[in-house]
Amino acid sequence: MIKGVALFDGGELRGGRGLTKCIFMTLKPILIHPDPRLKKVCDPVTEFDRDLARFADDMLQTMYEAPGIGLAAPQVGLTKRMLVMDCVKEASGTPEPMVMVNPAVTWSSDEKNVYEEGCLSIPGQYADVERPKMVRVSWLDVEGKAHEEEFDALWATCVQHEIDHLDGILFIDYLKPLKRQMITRKMQKLKRDRTRA
Ligand SMILES: [Zn+2]
Repeated sequence: MIKGVALFDGGELRGGRGLTKCIFMTLKPILIHPDPRLKKVCDPVTEFDRDLARFADDMLQTMYEAPGIGLAAPQVGLTKRMLVMDCVKEASGTPEPMVMVNPAVTWSSDEKNVYEEGCLSIPGQYADVERPKMVRVSWLDVEGKAHEEEFDALWATCVQHEIDHLDGILFIDYLKPLKRQMITRKMQKLKRDRTRA
């Protein structure tokens, strides 16, 4: 299930963009809902060591390879407050990989935005979710340095979706119970089918 991938100058892998060093990374298996690890409130990161930086690299690689625009640590089985994202979707665009450790929303706009959201832990399912259009987020980088930035539109939705993961909240938790149950049943079936395959 775990694949080692060598990347050279961005490589031929879709996920390789933006990575200019020859490095070995590990693609992490992504947990599929329902899974108790996706419902946990994650613990803050306290150790800013090489393992953390390596884990962040693995998460970015896993996200690009999926492909996705955001990934939270619990989705790959680590219940710590860390996420990665890159909302530059065009293959020709300059990648903007971001790693956030212990992120927190410090301000959100009254103005709302609706995006059709999906989730790597809920493959193939999409639904409209309303969230604040803009948010300000504070976080630490993998070296423990503090950052704060404002996000708008897709970036704002993505960072809110990922921070939700750190509190055990999935985008389907914003949907009506019936729709949520329907999606959960589909995911249970998907997991059964994958186990059999
Ligand atoms: Zn998600």
